[in-house]
Amino acid sequence: MIVTKYPRVSKRVSYSAECAAVVAALAIKFTSLQRLPTCSLSDYDNQESKPLCGDVSIGSAIVTTASGSIRIPKDDRINNLSGRSIEVVVGLEPPIPFSVHENLICASSDFFRKAMEGDWKESKQLLVCLEDDDPDTFLVYLHWLYRGTLPVRIDEPGPLMNSEYLQLAKAYILGDKLQDGDFKDVVIDAMIDKCKSTASDGHRWFPVGPVLRCMYKNTPTSSKARRLLVDIYVHHGPGHWTSDGAEQDEIPKDFLYEVTMAFMDKRDKNEEDPTQRPTCAYHEHGPGETRCYKARLRNGIVTRKAQS
Ligand SMILES: [Zn+2]
Repeated sequence: MIVTKYPRVSKRVSYSAECAAVVAALAIKFTSLQRLPTCSLSDYDNQESKPLCGDVSIGSAIVTTASGSIRIPKDDRINNLSGRSIEVVVGLEPPIPFSVHENLICASSDFFRKAMEGDWKESKQLLVCLEDDDPDTFLVYLHWLYRGTLPVRIDEPGPLMNSEYLQLAKAYILGDKLQDGDFKDVVIDAMIDKCKSTASDGHRWFPVGPVLRCMYKNTPTSSKARRLLVDIYVHHGPGHWTSDGAEQDEIPKDFLYEVTMAFMDKRDKNEEDPTQRPTCAYHEHGPGETRCYKARLRNGIVTRKAQS
């Protein structure tokens, strides 16, 4: 589920954004207005507010809910921003503190829900330490909790493009640790969306070396993210993908094994059976069947070796 949130902006701009959101909601509600782009109904008089219009920058946060509407159920528990806050300290060098609403994060993450219920130290102190995790990745998670979007997008081609995949891979792994299935699914969808999108050079770029290593090092064998990477390679990948951005021995063995199995399962069953082909395809002699021992036998020549 993707949650609808307004972005945190200055009060004046926030008001403008809220107006735009209300207008957009009305446009969706009344069928007579549905065909109008919601931007056309927003506050465009103020040029400064234009980039904040519903369908432009915050549009992805506002209108891309699962139902396609900015109106969500009032009792949606994940939308509960009341109650106390938890301090989450992430990383070690240096540790970065974050504050998050307990109700919000516990409704999404089983890890936090378990930490906060019962007689745990974390629950009493309202403090959770994630020493082994990356603050930047946790920030992506928090951003999603509060705003429903993932601030990871990079449209540059090449290694920079791969760094977005890497950020998404880290987010997925964090989602796995925090036991937040919705977040993991959102990250998977973001990866797929990225695979389908073109970079600024007009080409589509796919995840390579470091992303594969990161995912395979930190996910269980049953991970759906692994399956996605395998399927992407089987469907899209030329052989050199496995050497791009990584030395050959840096590609996870499990990944190569799974790609191989997927290829074998996927192959065209109508392809010519190799056991029905002329066997010379597998013989050591050079091109031409006349060099084959079978030709010599047919001609009554019994010398063991053909003249080269
Ligand atoms: Zn032969």
